[in-house]
Formats: sequence, structure tokens, C-alpha cells
Amino acid sequence: MKNVKARGITALNEPFEAITIDRREVGPKDVLIEIKFAGICHSDIHHARGEWKEETFPLVPGHEIAGIVAEVGSEVTKYKIGDRVGVGCMVDSCGECENCLKGEEQFCLNGNTPTYSGINKYGDRERTQGGYSTHIVVTENFVLAIPEGIELDEAAPLLCAGITTYSPLHHWGAGPGKNVAVVGLGGLGHMAVKIAHAMGAEVTVLSQSLSKKEDGLRLGADHYYATSDGETFKNLAGSFDLIINTVSAKLNLDDYLSLLKLDGTMVNVGAPGEPLSLNVFTLLAMRRRFAGSMIGGIRETQEMLNFCAEHHLGADIELISADQIDEAYERVVASDVRYRFVIDSATI
Ligand code: NAP
Ligand code: ZN
Repeated sequence: MKNVKARGITALNEPFEAITIDRREVGPKDVLIEIKFAGICHSDIHHARGEWKEETFPLVPGHEIAGIVAEVGSEVTKYKIGDRVGVGCMVDSCGECENCLKGEEQFCLNGNTPTYSGINKYGDRERTQGGYSTHIVVTENFVLAIPEGIELDEAAPLLCAGITTYSPLHHWGAGPGKNVAVVGLGGLGHMAVKIAHAMGAEVTVLSQSLSKKEDGLRLGADHYYATSDGETFKNLAGSFDLIINTVSAKLNLDDYLSLLKLDGTMVNVGAPGEPLSLNVFTLLAMRRRFAGSMIGGIRETQEMLNFCAEHHLGADIELISADQIDEAYERVVASDVRYRFVIDSATI
């Protein structure tokens, strides 16, 4: 498919502009999706600003995609034209390695194919380009069904922010009787609060200030503290079974690790470009664990979407037009997002 409209950047630190990209022709197992909405994840910003690696341009970010099936290949069995579907952070994997066979395609031993900033396995091995565009072609196994009951615009952020928080909450057993802290109330953080609350955990938000306290409590938190207040770390020492750190910048890990109980786990999903360090004695003290987690597999992503539909959870969004992407990036970086910017693809 030639000349698909998109918004991308053509060099580092340049603003977004209207460009066109090519998508591969719809193959037998492919689904062509008319994109309706695309969320803006902080990872898009890390990429666009070259904070993780050297990028190749043009770059069209976007891995929180929600839309409608517009065409299906001859061998597609799971979807038909008109279905409500989503695409997250990956569009393919080898399908054969140990981790893919476990349904953990994000950890494909041969490397999953990221939705953008990766190399397309098909055809001319072009670079993959993301969801800030009007159409995308994806192999059906990496397309998710968006259940009725979640609006498409509020569903888009679930494809990254939703699964990235659902997966560790599920893996580390958030539920009744568990004290869970969420660090950072941004895109990921606000979904972590909603999901942990729906799982039945007691939820605490640790935010830089109290400015979003009312929102945090409305989203499902039981407690809300400012990390700018030194007393917070004293008062909450040894309180949590699980801490989900969603912060996009470097933190003093020891301060947060000391909030874990015996055998507690802090999971870093935030991905700042610079390395984090910790004092091992903070871990030794209470047999604490420091872990990481990256998005989730396709099966688990579908499970998360179904869970969200069942619990009536979508993201809290600010819908923007394609001309507002640069401004939205500035606001995300300034922690001024409530709680996910979503691009209305009709404006692309
Ligand atoms: P976001 O919307 O910008 O939220 C991050 C939040 O962190 C902010 O709202 C702010 O919350 C807090 N924060 C920001 N700077 C801080 C600082 N200097 N010190 C303390 N707190 C700070 O970003 P996001 O889209 O949720 O993404 C968060 C991080 O997760 C990014 O690094 C992103 O790349 C990463 N990520 C990882 C995965 C994965 O698979 N592991 C997937 C998606 C995203 P308060 O205002 O409440 O303090
Ligand atoms: Zn993301």
C-alpha cells in the first residue's frame, strides 16, 4: 500500500510533519487496519529524541493502536472486515523459540519485530513504521481484539500502558491482601492504579507532589503520598509487597527499595536512557528483589483487554489532533499529562 499518510520526524530534534509511508501489500495472513486512534507513550519520546539508541529517519512512532479491520488476507481466520482491533509494541516474532512457544513473544530469542524502529521481516525488509498514521498491515497473530464495552480511543493506550502494568501486577500476584505502590502517575502509572485496584490490591500512589491526589484516589488508589516530602520515605518504610516503578527518569532506587517488606519486589517498567544503580545492602536487608518487566505477550495482552472490558477500564485520555503532537510531547516530559494523549487519526 503506497502513500499512506503519517506523522513523523525526518531528523533528530525536528518537529513532526506530514509525510507518507509505504505499507506492505496485504499477504495471506495479514490484516489491514484503518487506524482510528494512536496513543502517545513516553517510549515514543525516548525514541524520537534518540535517548535509547541512534535512530534511523524518517521515524513514525506509535505502538498504542486502535482501529477497524479494512481488509483481510485469504488465510486469515481470526478477523473480518469491520472488527475492532488493536496493535501494541510488536508486530511479529519468530514463533518458534522457547519464549515464543510460551506466549512470551516480547522476549523472542530471535528478537521480536517492534511496531516501529525495527526491520520488517517481509518483502523488502523495510523499517517498520508505527501508529501515527492512517493504516497499518499486521500479521493476524499480532492483532488483538478490542472487546465491546471499551471505546476505541480509551482502548488504544491499553495496548502498551495497559499490558505493561497488567503483566507485572499479574506476575507478582497483586490482589486482595497485597500492598501495591505505583511510582509516577502518568500514562503507565494511571493504568497501574486502575488495574491493581480492580485486582483487589490496596493501592498507594507515590507521586512527585500532591497535585494529582484527587485524581489518584478517583482512579482507585487508597493512599497518595508526595515523594518530595522526606517524611514519606520514613513513614512508609517496609510497607509494600510490590512496587511498580513507572518513572521515565532516574530515581534513587534505594529510597524506594527501602519501602518494601520482607520478600517484597520492586519492578521497574520505567525505562530511562541512563543506567540506574543501587546499594545491594538495601536488597539483602529484607530479601528484597529488584526486577524488570517489558510489555507482555500476545495471549496476555488479550487477557488484559478482556479484564479491562470486564472491569469497565479504559485509559483517561486527552484526544488531540495530529498538529498537536510536538506540544503533547512537551507536556508529557513536564509530567503534565492526564493521563494519556491520544491522536485522532482522522486529523492525520
Ligand atoms: P509518563 O506518562 O511521562 O509518566 C511518567 C511519570 O513519571 C510522570 O507522569 C511523573 O509522575 C513521573 N516522573 C517523571 N519524571 C520524573 C522524575 N524526574 N522524578 C520522579 N518522577 C518523575 O510516561 P509513560 O508513558 O507512563 O512511560 C513511563 C516510562 O515507562 C517511560 O520511561 C517509558 O519508556 C517506559 N515504558 C516501558 C515499557 C516496558 O515495556 N517496560 C512500556 C512502556 C513504557 P508524577 O507526576 O506522578 O510524579
Ligand atoms: Zn509504550
